[in-house]
Amino acid sequence: MTGSVLQAYMICKRQAWLLAHQITGESDNDLLVIGRLIAQDSYSKDKKELKIFDGIVDVVRNEKGKIKIIEVKKSSKSSESAKYQLLFYMWKLSVKEGEIRIPKEKKIIKVFLTNENEKKLLLLLEEAEKVINNKVPPEPVQKSYCKTCSYNLFCWS
Ligand code: SF4
Repeated sequence: MTGSVLQAYMICKRQAWLLAHQITGESDNDLLVIGRLIAQDSYSKDKKELKIFDGIVDVVRNEKGKIKIIEVKKSSKSSESAKYQLLFYMWKLSVKEGEIRIPKEKKIIKVFLTNENEKKLLLLLEEAEKVINNKVPPEPVQKSYCKTCSYNLFCWS
């Protein structure tokens, strides 16, 4: 299980299964590339303060001795799934505070690993693991997200 798989699970169970089984979609999906560039460019000035953590977290910032994990997103459209992705990293790293930053919208969403959020996260992880451990992926279900999904051709052609 990874944060990206968990985020995908909240959007599309099939996508989560494909990601978890290392089946890659189209790598030149424009939106994925734009998302990566936003994450790289938006905090380039802060580089001295920032550290990329194993490529799994966009930014880890040490503010007055307090570690904060920051996930950078291109829009707030999937902020609920982004929240659980961030909570997953926070839980893994035992960090209590995080932020989802959406530079294009000048928005910062604060996220806290409270007991309640941790309980919800663990339930979600349990559900997602059941789906991912199946031998075959869930059938595709058409949704608006399919238009920009890197598995579009795989699911619908
Ligand atoms: S194309 Fe649609 S059904 Fe297929 S993985 Fe992507 S979101 Fe899911």
